[in-house]
Amino acid sequence: MESRCFATLVTNDAYVDGAATLAHSLRGCVSVVVLVPPNALSQASLAVLYRAFDRVVYVPLWSNTRNAAQLALLGRPELHITYSKLFVFSAEVMHPFNVVAFIDADAFALDPVHATGIFQHLHDGASFAAAADVGWPDIFNSGVFVCRPSNALFEALKWEADYGSGSFDGGDQGLLNRFFRSWAGFHQDEPHEVPLDGSVDSRPPKPHCPQELKRTARLPFTFNVTPSAVYSYLPAVKEFQSNMSIVHFAGHDKPWTQARFTDGTVWNRNMSSEIANLHNMWWKIRDHLTETWKQ
Ligand code: UDP
Ligand code: MN
Repeated sequence: MESRCFATLVTNDAYVDGAATLAHSLRGCVSVVVLVPPNALSQASLAVLYRAFDRVVYVPLWSNTRNAAQLALLGRPELHITYSKLFVFSAEVMHPFNVVAFIDADAFALDPVHATGIFQHLHDGASFAAAADVGWPDIFNSGVFVCRPSNALFEALKWEADYGSGSFDGGDQGLLNRFFRSWAGFHQDEPHEVPLDGSVDSRPPKPHCPQELKRTARLPFTFNVTPSAVYSYLPAVKEFQSNMSIVHFAGHDKPWTQARFTDGTVWNRNMSSEIANLHNMWWKIRDHLTETWKQ
C-alpha cells in the first residue's frame, strides 16, 4: 500500500513563513510533514509549524562540512545545512509514509489537487524523480523531488556524503546528482572520489545499494517552475501555464524578503512583471493563511 506525503525542511526561523505558506497551499489532499532540527527554532516558529503541518518530524541538523569552497562558488554559504533534507530518504524517519514528495520551503503549489499529480511520475519502479535545473539542464533541481524512502538508499547516500565523492556544489543537489546519475539519460563515469592521505583506505565499508534503488524518472518542469525560467523563456511559460503546479523561488529573492506596496502587491525594479506576479501569488496564499488563522 502506498502511503504518501509532502515534506519540507526548516532549519531556522527565516524559512518558517515560507514553509507555512507552502503547507497552506498543499492542504487538504495528502499529509504535509515538516522536518526540523531540535533546538533550532524559536517557540513562536515551532507553534506556527505545528499549526500549519500535519506532522513535525525532528531530524538532526546535517551540515556538510566538506565543501565550503563549492558553496562559496555558488554564492550561498548558508546552504551547508541542506543535507538535512536527505532524511526524507530514510524509511525509519519517514515512517509510515513510503512515498514522499519533498518540496523546498521557498515554493508553493498553485492547486493542491494538481500538485498530487507529482506522485504519478514515480513510475517504472523508479525510487527518485526530479525536474531539470534551469542553470544546467543535465542536472536536476533538488528543490522538488519524489522518492521512495529506503534505509539501504539512505545509508548509501550518507556514505557518499561523508566518505564518497560528496557534493559538487556543496548542497544536497550536488550530492544527489552524483548519486542518481542515470537521471541525465546518458552514460557518465563515476565521479572522482576524494583523494585520501596515504595508501590505506580507512573509510568504513561502502554500504550495498542495489542498482534498482538508483532507478530514476523525470518530473515535468511544471512541478518545479523557477522564476529564472520565466525570465529566460516566456513563450514556454505561456504554452505550459495551464499545467503549472508548483512554483519554486530558487535563488536569493524569496517572496518573504520583498517589500510590498500598501495594496499588498510586490514589485521591485530588478524584477519583471511576470516574476512579480509569481511573488504576488505567493503573498495571496500567505494573506489567506493569516486571515484563516485570525478566525
Ligand atoms: N533551508 C532552511 N534554512 C536555511 C536554508 C535552507 O531551512 O537557512 C531549507 C529550506 O527548506 C529551503 C531549502 O533548505 O527551501 C533549500 O534552500 P533554498 O531554497 O534557499 O535554496 P535554493 O532553492 O535557493 O537553491
Ligand atoms: Mn529552494
